[in-house]
Amino acid sequence: MMLKSRLLAAQLPIAIALAAIGMLAVFSVDELGRAGRDILSNNYRSVLAAQRMKESLERIDSATLFVVAGEREKGEAQLKLQRPSCEAELRTQQGNLTESGEAEATLAVREAWDAYVEQLDALPAAADPKAHYLNHLEPAFFAAKHAADVVVTLNQDAMVLKSEKLRLDSRRFNTVTVVALLLSLLVGFGFSLVLTERAMRPLSVLGQAVRRLGEGDLAARARVKGPSDLEQLGRDFDAMAGRLQAYRESSLGELLQAQQSSQAAIDSLPDPVLVFSRDGLRQGTNRAGEALNLSEEPLRALLEKVRGHVLSGKGFYVPRGYEEAVRVGQVFLLPRGSPVTNESLAVVGATVLLQDVTRLRRFDELKNDLVATVAHEFRTPLTSLRMAIHLTVELAAGPLTDKQLELLVAAREDCERLQGIVDDLLDLSRLQSGRLELERKPVKVSSLVDEVIDAHRAAAALREVTLTAALGPFAADQQVDADAARLGLVLANLVSNAIRYTPAGGTVTVGFDGARFEVRDTGAGILPEHQKRIFEKFFRVPGTRPEGAGLGLAIAREIVEAHGGQLGVDSTLGQGSRFWFTVA
Ligand code: ADP
Repeated sequence: MMLKSRLLAAQLPIAIALAAIGMLAVFSVDELGRAGRDILSNNYRSVLAAQRMKESLERIDSATLFVVAGEREKGEAQLKLQRPSCEAELRTQQGNLTESGEAEATLAVREAWDAYVEQLDALPAAADPKAHYLNHLEPAFFAAKHAADVVVTLNQDAMVLKSEKLRLDSRRFNTVTVVALLLSLLVGFGFSLVLTERAMRPLSVLGQAVRRLGEGDLAARARVKGPSDLEQLGRDFDAMAGRLQAYRESSLGELLQAQQSSQAAIDSLPDPVLVFSRDGLRQGTNRAGEALNLSEEPLRALLEKVRGHVLSGKGFYVPRGYEEAVRVGQVFLLPRGSPVTNESLAVVGATVLLQDVTRLRRFDELKNDLVATVAHEFRTPLTSLRMAIHLTVELAAGPLTDKQLELLVAAREDCERLQGIVDDLLDLSRLQSGRLELERKPVKVSSLVDEVIDAHRAAAALREVTLTAALGPFAADQQVDADAARLGLVLANLVSNAIRYTPAGGTVTVGFDGARFEVRDTGAGILPEHQKRIFEKFFRVPGTRPEGAGLGLAIAREIVEAHGGQLGVDSTLGQGSRFWFTVA
């Protein structure tokens, strides 16, 4: 059976209930009608017959009066007309005896009428019509009329009783109909509800299966039993779920395969690879990575730093040098971080590669040691060389020709440069090997700035550059916790660079805004691609005058970072640069 037929069938009980009520109503109305009809035919006919009989009696009586008065002809004509009609009405009444006592009353009418008729027949032969009328006819007339009155009253009383009964019956019928209507509607509705619910049950089974499938349970099946069209729908749904499950299983297989091969690919890498999710949780790693204890310091802190850098959207993390490598057991690992992005290029994770740089780091250490040793070894001969040239230039060893003096002055300048480079190299190697012990104590910002300005005033004047301090309103009393000598070196480096790379007429400003030290200049500025590299050792922007060895900013950064701060630059080509650093 189809769902439509079932739903129609479910309406049947209500329809049957309504039909039953209808039939009851028809029957009851019929009953009431019949009772009304009975009143009309049983009583009203009797009342009518008795009334008519009475009218005929009146007319017969007046006809006898005509005869008594001498109008015999007129009286007999009227008598001829009225006697049969009175007789006919009496017969009608005799054939309509319905009430108890009516038969006796009608018999009394018959006897009275017959007695009256007897006296009527005797009237023509009466010697004294008038006396006959008064003595015989008139009493018989009243007797017959009275008998007819009894029949009228009897039937009228019966009519009143019956109509009262009819009224009560119709009221009872109303009550019965209302009660039956309510009851049958209730029962019919109950049945309809049960049938509808039964017809709709397969739909709820199907609904549940659809919901489970929607929630990802691909094994959900409806297996509907019920109306043929719903069974068909259930079969179609089950077939669809089956195909979906098969597809999921096959795509899951492919996915697993793809995942296995990408896992195999990163497993084949000798260096540890770690993959982090957007919220910093580790999502995957290769075999080399699994062997690491990631919660051990300093590896944990390093990973934290690289992951934080990449996930905060700063792009790739590229280490600055081998000194960033951390020691894990016998090996040194150098981190590199790359962002994992989605289709809209938003960062959704980070990949960290820990490159084993043990050998390279050893080379770097050897190189640093070599540089340090060479610089150290250079210092003593360089000092005596400088002293010798100084003394010679100052003519302590006798007179010189102009040409000799010119050559020796140039040699003295180069010796000074060489001394600077050797000092820088030694500083750097000390910083990098961690041998530099900071002596931190509260230092007044204003004294740091004043000192550096005093030390560079002459150099600035020589290059016609204005050198000023720009301290914020409270900076005068502000203090930082720092190694005054080292931080002074950083400031000195930045200021001497600014003076060196600013053309005559420019300005160099040293400032402190409450959080950062700044050295601003109105010099040539630095190209964006050079801005990162100027902090590397020995890097010099191509085309600049060969005055330094490219070590100043590398040393400055080491010192600032040893203080837990950061050193950076904002620069626009042609407008100047702003070097800044913080102290933690
Ligand atoms: P150097 O001793 O050669 O100055 P630094 O490490 O101090 O070495 O600086 C690296 C390079 O950065 C310099 O060679 C120069 O090209 C560039 N540089 C540094 N400071 C400035 C500046 N204020 N304006 C423009 N270029 C600068």
